[in-house]
Amino acid sequence: MTQDLGKRTRMVHHGARRSQYGEVAEAIYLTQGFVYPSAEAAEARFLKTGPDEFIYARYGNPTVAAFEDRIAALEGTEDAFATASGMAAVSGALTAMLRAGDHVVSSRALFGSCLYVLEEILTRYGVEVTFVDGTDLAQWAAAVRPETRAVFLETVSNPTLEVIDLKAVADIAHAVGALVVVDNVFATPVFSRAVELGADVIIYSATKHIDGQGRALGGVICGTQDFIRKTVEPYLKHTGGALSPFNAWIMLNGLTTMDLRVRAQAASAQALAEALKDDPRLARVIYPGLPDHPQHAIAKAQMGGFGTVMALDVAAGKEAAFRVLNALQVAVISNNLGDARSIVTHPATTTHQRLPDDQKAALGITPGLIRLSVGLEDVADLIDDFRIALDMI
Ligand SMILES: *Cc1c(COP(=O)(O)O)cnc(C)c1O
Repeated sequence: MTQDLGKRTRMVHHGARRSQYGEVAEAIYLTQGFVYPSAEAAEARFLKTGPDEFIYARYGNPTVAAFEDRIAALEGTEDAFATASGMAAVSGALTAMLRAGDHVVSSRALFGSCLYVLEEILTRYGVEVTFVDGTDLAQWAAAVRPETRAVFLETVSNPTLEVIDLKAVADIAHAVGALVVVDNVFATPVFSRAVELGADVIIYSATKHIDGQGRALGGVICGTQDFIRKTVEPYLKHTGGALSPFNAWIMLNGLTTMDLRVRAQAASAQALAEALKDDPRLARVIYPGLPDHPQHAIAKAQMGGFGTVMALDVAAGKEAAFRVLNALQVAVISNNLGDARSIVTHPATTTHQRLPDDQKAALGITPGLIRLSVGLEDVADLIDDFRIALDMI
């Protein structure tokens, strides 16, 4: 399929590999391996695989390849490699490209597991990591140096929704020859402009908006063909982080409807943020689509929308926040995001429990903070749900 088709067309059709039966829905090639027509063919395939030639599902699989082609076409990168989870993508991309003596600069406001990979794992193998406040460009500029091999950031941070100026950070990184690696989950593939803003490697947890229905784990690394095939693939095919064909099929079908879902969820998030922003029981409503968000202008310039996640800071603290969580009838308490169901999370006691109190405070993870991933329910029901729950304080 040609490259100048619109994103929504690509999300529906791109990458499909029809078998001789001409099935409409993508086939699930639930097979660990592939039969060779002859010993010579097996030898030839191990020497060099051509297009649509597969050896072993840890290396590649037709259903997985269809998902990789579709997400790469959507993101605007030359290639992509699918992984068993979002964290397999983050750790795989970083470990594949880094070696002892390399230096990495990373934003500090990260998903807990990303922080663990950078702070606890990479450093064990001789990689030096400098953490900065991602919204402070002077800190990025001061931290990079000639041996900086990569910068890492979440373009929109979890759970406090800080938006990092990707173009500015990419310019700083590229000036010293470092690669820009972004975890783009909160921006979503629908609103991403990461390639045009200078990101070299773009990572998604497919578990979030790509599945969008809370069913399966998956992840993907998007980048140049050279980076994906020469750096990422050798590492991942030998270390075993492959996506299962069944989960790839779920993700392929998730991509088909992702644009509609994410836009509807973002519109509801905007409406809900506006409905709650002046509620006296909330110290803050954090959503990049609100004009008073500190990086509202950056978010507007670098994303095609403001995302599906917001945070509400209950002024009276933890007990009051728990009362709100327990009173919600529509939104459920869990820790996924990007799901069709609205999901609320109390980061301080769950996803970010591990962090010491001073780090929580520095990241804005207050005792009253509730993260809300807005789903596909009627927005009027969600607004009522929160108003009634806030009355329980
Ligand atoms: C969920 C998430 C991940 C990890 O993804 P998994 O699929 O759960 O492994 C990484 N980064 C961000 C920002 C996430 O939200």
